[in-house]
Amino acid sequence: MNKNVFISKHPLVLAKIAKLRDKKTPAADFRRVMSEIGMLLAHDVLANAEVGPSCVDTPLGPCKAMTLSHDIIFAAVLRAGLGLLDGLSKIHPEARLAHIGIYRDEETLKPVKYYVRLPERIDGSLVVLIDPMLATGGSAMEAVELLKARGAKKICFMGLIGSKDGVKRLASTHPDVPVYLGAVDEKLNNDGYIVPGLGDAGDRMFGIQ
Ligand code: URA
Repeated sequence: MNKNVFISKHPLVLAKIAKLRDKKTPAADFRRVMSEIGMLLAHDVLANAEVGPSCVDTPLGPCKAMTLSHDIIFAAVLRAGLGLLDGLSKIHPEARLAHIGIYRDEETLKPVKYYVRLPERIDGSLVVLIDPMLATGGSAMEAVELLKARGAKKICFMGLIGSKDGVKRLASTHPDVPVYLGAVDEKLNNDGYIVPGLGDAGDRMFGIQ
């Protein structure tokens, strides 16, 4: 695995991913668990944020402190990114939230962009790109390229499950973008789904089956 890829070993992440993989998990639990994993993975991903020295006044006097040196943007790839976004935004509600709509053409499996809503200036921010299923890597690479074209200098990718090939493709094409995941699975099927994976993350989150 590339050195810019980090797979969580946190016991709660592992146990919660098992819950998501279980086809019997209902949509309401699926959404809740996805959000909880978002909070747990946030710990590692947000360690990429930079802080600088500052001073705050406590009720008892001035105190040297560290504060964030830049703002943070959470950019969710629609639809499934919304689940992890929920957890991330609970941990850091001050972040700005962006949305990128990309779907995979069912025939070509190539990403098709249909909606992009980002803050105007993103060059000074840490941008966390969120997409739970890193399958072929095509959508993630398209989204990273879009963020770079809009000026982003510091990007991290956060997902739930990656396929070996998808992770390798993203990490080697964009070595400057650290990749945080909960698990890496062996392969993709002919429809581009991660196997064993958890099925269609968006459909499972929103109860569309
Ligand atoms: N998107 C999903 O929701 N699931 C997969 O397995 C691959 C892409």
